Amino acid sequence: MKKYNFSAGPSILAQEVIENTAKAVLDLNGKGLSVMEISHRSSDFQAVMDESVALFRELLEIPANYHVLFLGGGASLQFCMVPYNLMRKKAAYLETGTWAKKAIKEAKGFGEVDVVASSSDKNFNYIPKGFTIPEDADYFHITTNNTIFGTEILEDYDSPVPMAADMSSDIFSRPVDVSKYAIIYGGAQKNLGPAGATFVIIRDDILGKVDRYIPTMLDYNTHIDKGSMFNTPPCLPIYTCLETLRWLKKLGGVKVMHRMNQEKAGLLYDEIERNPLFVGTAEPDSRSVMNICFVMQDEYQELEKGFLEFATSKGMVGIKGHRSVGGFRASVYNAMPKESVVALIEAMQGFEKMHVK
Ligand SMILES: *Cc1c(COP(=O)(O)O)cnc(C)c1O
Repeated sequence: MKKYNFSAGPSILAQEVIENTAKAVLDLNGKGLSVMEISHRSSDFQAVMDESVALFRELLEIPANYHVLFLGGGASLQFCMVPYNLMRKKAAYLETGTWAKKAIKEAKGFGEVDVVASSSDKNFNYIPKGFTIPEDADYFHITTNNTIFGTEILEDYDSPVPMAADMSSDIFSRPVDVSKYAIIYGGAQKNLGPAGATFVIIRDDILGKVDRYIPTMLDYNTHIDKGSMFNTPPCLPIYTCLETLRWLKKLGGVKVMHRMNQEKAGLLYDEIERNPLFVGTAEPDSRSVMNICFVMQDEYQELEKGFLEFATSKGMVGIKGHRSVGGFRASVYNAMPKESVVALIEAMQGFEKMHVK
């Protein structure tokens, strides 16, 4: 049976990305060697790295004074690398969910953390507004897409201090004004590739301002100086990211992707609003275009397990909601075709016919 993969991460990749990776695993560039068994210093792998960085720059229109890095350690290691490298005394954080809280926890190990606003009062179902970013903070940190709670910051804020953003789950989903950020980072496994690669886009003037000793591997300058090749980078995950970037460019880039994402999310949010069985959890003006969270209406609570089983029988995978929200979460990342969203909507309508008179 056809599977519709709505997993939150690791998550769906375009079929052609998986196929091209499979080919390169068997034979990269027709040279009789796997991408997994060649030196990261070989010209064949250097070309993979160079093209990946170039496509990052091209697709996101990254200005020249920024570096693009591919590291290990996941977005979670960035929660510590950001304050390690950037915090002198104080940093400001916007608390919009589980990942933001984890970033805040790490930052507290390096200095004072000013949580400028939080949506914890409503289980993170909205993006706070009207907060003030302190001008004496060394940086201001946000999580642009809250993968677990299905909320998203859909604009590029103006910040009086350097802005750091965890874009793990919405990078390349829309055009971003990179010049408004000092650093953007994320794990690849939501919208870009398999787990194992972490991307970092960093402006060079924000470094070198802290007095503490920074361990070599945690120092951004180490990786900038060596073009992400100080040590062995995650070669195979980077290769898959490259295939995704090629695919993205072929489709027309982030503007086209943004339109497609808005259409997909719009269809699903419309159905959630229309269908008497379901209700969305995020406030309408904060809703994520990537992770769509919904629960059963109060009077149909006892049908939750039934819908999960019904949808599973129709080929849906990964729609069970995170335990901190409950219900359902449909992750509709870039690689998710509209047809899969339509299939989920049909399952929702089929279940409605069975249960609503
Ligand atoms: C998944 C996720 C993370 C954690 O990423 P790892 O690469 O597993 O460390 C961090 N932030 C956001 C927004 C995420 O979606």
